[in-house]
Amino acid sequence: MTTAIHSASVELRDIHVSFGTLEVLRGVDLKVEQGKTTCVIGPSGSGKSTLLRCVNRLQEPDSGDLLLDGESVIQSDPDKLRQRVGMVFQHFNLFGHRTVLDNITLPLRSVKGLDKEEAAEIARARLADVGLADKAPYRPAALSGGQQQRVAIARALAMDPDVMLFDEATSALDPELVKGVLDLMAGLAERGLTLLVVTHEMGFARSVADEVAFMDRGKVVELGKPEALFDDPQSPRLQRFLSQVL
Ligand code: ADP
Ligand code: MG
Repeated sequence: MTTAIHSASVELRDIHVSFGTLEVLRGVDLKVEQGKTTCVIGPSGSGKSTLLRCVNRLQEPDSGDLLLDGESVIQSDPDKLRQRVGMVFQHFNLFGHRTVLDNITLPLRSVKGLDKEEAAEIARARLADVGLADKAPYRPAALSGGQQQRVAIARALAMDPDVMLFDEATSALDPELVKGVLDLMAGLAERGLTLLVVTHEMGFARSVADEVAFMDRGKVVELGKPEALFDDPQSPRLQRFLSQVL
């Protein structure tokens, strides 16, 4: 890939989120240092997606703070924040009736105010980065799931973010398509983008993450280097979780 990477640290402090009487995040503290990768693992319903959504304020926390590069952005313009914090979803969220190229140029034009040619130039470069330069004129449905997810990644990267969030980015893919997407994510980690990755891919977490956070019932129950978490889990809840997934 050709873009110079700039990245930022991101930190959540004492984040609380409730939906009605359901307390989904119960005081979460988590920091990803600049250029590092943290993987978040944990059972379904433990609050992983809600946590990730708090980082680009798709979910506004009830209380707590969010810092980018050490500066609070909890009160800032959410649209500006989302230019700095890209997100990739399980189900790609591409515009189905638009071409692959348009999927990348439209947000560049509407959010960054680029003209058509500038946007197309960036879009083509990012598509080339993810190995899909030849797919620009197609609709997403003409691509495999893995290719569609790589388009979604290219779209997020085109905004030139400081931090990228991945929410189970490979969970909807056929098994043979998972590796291409994980390899791409590992490449971003290697280039020094700051990544916060919710994943069920324990092999990826072990080999790529600088730190792994285990969430259960709205809290980070255990946090540490992958070897420590996977080989020497301390809490019974993590031990039980790992015995089910490994
Ligand atoms: P995970 O990603 O770990 O599976 P989520 O963050 O998606 O967990 O969800 C945590 C809990 O919050 C679940 O019980 C879920 O049903 C609930 N939840 C998530 N979003 C909402 C919402 N918008 N309204 C009500 N409940 C929600
Ligand atoms: Mg989830």
